[in-house]
Amino acid sequence: MHNLYSVKMRAAQGGPHEAGGRHISGAERIVPAAEVAAAAEMMARRAQEHERGQPDFINIKIESLSGMKIRELTSLPVYTLRAGNCGEGLHLARRVLELTGVDPEAARLAVNCLLEGPAACGRNMRGAVLMDVHTGCRLEADADRGVRVSYMDYHTSAAGELSIKLAGQGLDNEHVKEALCLATKVASITSIKAELCWSDDPGYTTGYVASARLGYVRISPLKEKGSDCGGRVFFIDSRSGRLMETVRQLEKEPCLITALGMINAEMPYQMFVKNISTGRVPDYGLSGE
Ligand code: AMP
Repeated sequence: MHNLYSVKMRAAQGGPHEAGGRHISGAERIVPAAEVAAAAEMMARRAQEHERGQPDFINIKIESLSGMKIRELTSLPVYTLRAGNCGEGLHLARRVLELTGVDPEAARLAVNCLLEGPAACGRNMRGAVLMDVHTGCRLEADADRGVRVSYMDYHTSAAGELSIKLAGQGLDNEHVKEALCLATKVASITSIKAELCWSDDPGYTTGYVASARLGYVRISPLKEKGSDCGGRVFFIDSRSGRLMETVRQLEKEPCLITALGMINAEMPYQMFVKNISTGRVPDYGLSGE
């Protein structure tokens, strides 16, 4: 894979993010040189058509990845669990987090943190909370910005196949594709044990728990329709002594998804647990470490 470029977009209303503007939209791609212009144009359009409002600041950044090692990953297997309501969904999320090895108290603190608004100012963050998997202590240096995962995308051949496979389960949408890409990169970093996420998009109520061992486990619903409260928590074992290196990998290391994991039909929680206990859930996302 030669001559690849990172193309990133961020858009805000009321000025740039760094001057207090309200975040409207963000996206990123890794593409060959010949596709850079089309990717940038598509992102400008996406920023201007976002349901969160009209941005007055759009930043598009294009960087060559020449000379950088690009890790190739297999996307996490996709599962979908249905809950009767948000309370039940959040309960399921905590149980799945516990299956990944997150301490039950840390799982409870993570859910509460996202419910209350994880930023120091009590609102949404631009990035993710880093939380100790045993104690639930927060570890990120900046509690308003959090840690931003970047430099990840699907290889063109995998992207086409993914759309077809997701469409088979009624899941071929940008939310699922982007979250699966991010969750696959995060789970491929061995010091990260699990992730919890729900979107700040008011219309999208499905959230997920992800880990290298269990996969990308979608849980629906995890929040009430109309709520613009959302966030991400990455669970890390701070005793590993790899905090700084983990943040560098999350923010700077380029990854491309070149192969796809299973896309499963919706299933009851008991069947999901049975899959895990019978070893049918494979270890994914550790290639290249
Ligand atoms: P979204 O799924 O895009 O609605 O994002 C939900 C939340 O995840 C946001 O409010 C941020 O706190 C966080 N988030 C979004 N993008 C990233 C990213 N690239 N890296 C880390 N956290 C992110």
